[in-house]
Amino acid sequence: MDKIAIVGGGIGGLTLAALLRRQGQHELSIWEQSATLAPVGAALALAPNAARILAQLDLLDEVSVAGTRITRYVYENAQGLRWHTLSLAPLKDAWQVDAWCIPRSALQQALMRTLTDVPIYLGDGVTGVGREPSERVWLKTRQNRRWEGDGIIGADGVHSTVRQALGVPAHLRSAGFYAFRGVAQGRLPDRWLGTATERWGLDRHFGFSQMGPERIYWYATWPKTDTPPSWTDVIDFFSSWGEPIRDLLQATAPTDRLCHPIVDRNPWADWGRDRIILMGDAAHAMTPNLGQGGCQAMLDAWSLSHYLGRYPIPAAFDRYRHFRHRRAARVAYLSRLYGRVGHWSGIPGRIRNLVWTHIPDSWLARAPLWALGRPATEWPQSIA
Ligand SMILES: Cc1cc2nc3c(=O)[nH]c(=O)nc-3n(C[C@H](O)[C@H](O)[C@H](O)COP(=O)(O)OP(=O)(O)OC[C@H]3O[C@@H](n4cnc5c(N)ncnc54)[C@H](O)[C@@H]3O)c2cc1C
Repeated sequence: MDKIAIVGGGIGGLTLAALLRRQGQHELSIWEQSATLAPVGAALALAPNAARILAQLDLLDEVSVAGTRITRYVYENAQGLRWHTLSLAPLKDAWQVDAWCIPRSALQQALMRTLTDVPIYLGDGVTGVGREPSERVWLKTRQNRRWEGDGIIGADGVHSTVRQALGVPAHLRSAGFYAFRGVAQGRLPDRWLGTATERWGLDRHFGFSQMGPERIYWYATWPKTDTPPSWTDVIDFFSSWGEPIRDLLQATAPTDRLCHPIVDRNPWADWGRDRIILMGDAAHAMTPNLGQGGCQAMLDAWSLSHYLGRYPIPAAFDRYRHFRHRRAARVAYLSRLYGRVGHWSGIPGRIRNLVWTHIPDSWLARAPLWALGRPATEWPQSIA
């Protein structure tokens, strides 16, 4: 049995491990730098392209119990005037599952439960990977552990050590804004239930969704400056955007708030080759504007497991890279474009909002399906 090490126990690494474990053709180990597997960020928008993979793993029912089904995208102006309502029915029809807003912890726990017999080395970050003159590959860790095997998959996120060790650096690019996130206690008024709602100001957005019966996930964007704004600035600013935003901000404990400067990377950058390959954010970190970073990491996992189940490691990695590179790059560019245009300020921002309000819903109706594709185009062919 070939030995494979997965570096990073995030969304991508754990999904891949769950899929490969189910196949039972490889001896797996997971290497995670954190001492505990605690997800960064409380919530995740799980689009149908990723929810379908959870369904294939028989985990969707378990995970979705803690979340809320999303059937519509809603766009509003800063005062809450509704601009667009987009049904997600075309996406659901294509992927045969709904979109969900779920707690990241529920996803992680469900995946972990399938991995009880896979060794997970926690609290020992990988510091280097390399190739022996023979066919073997190795990794070493901060605590001087050394592992040798047949394949290494770098699922170690935006600041990937595996990427650096491969000598294929690709600079992270600032997207020009911060993302603030939080989880409030409570329940949205009925008009927003089952929706992923985004309000657009000139150069800032505020989005929110119900997540399970008692919690509401929200996020806000803010143009990048030398120092991030304080939470007081953010709360004061968005509180003037009316209900339910003011209540959400007040119902969020300081411990349930996060702020990140948003970056992405040229998705055409090298993903590795031979017996060491990258996936997820390590391969194609993207802006969160389409809510697809984690979903695309899961699609990487699906493709990798598909090819590893059918080909020897170097051929499987090569086919995976070939199959996923263009698809992930497309979503990353769309996300970047959407984020960039969405944060125009001044006159361009006003023109954007004017045009956006006048586009008929019928024109936008198929946009989500166009952006995310369908199994026949996004899954390796023989599965579709
Ligand atoms: C504000 C914001 C909102 C987002 N919202 C969504 C959303 O709604 N839907 C969505 O699909 N995506 C969303 N994303 C993107 C999503 O969070 C990421 O794309 C996703 O987490 C990538 O998964 P990953 O497994 O590749 O990396 P990660 O989840 O980052 O996991 C990497 C893991 O590797 C570990 N690691 C790092 N270095 C080492 C090392 N040297 N050795 C061992 N372990 C290491 C880390 O500790 C971590 O556990 C959002 C991102 C942001 C910033």
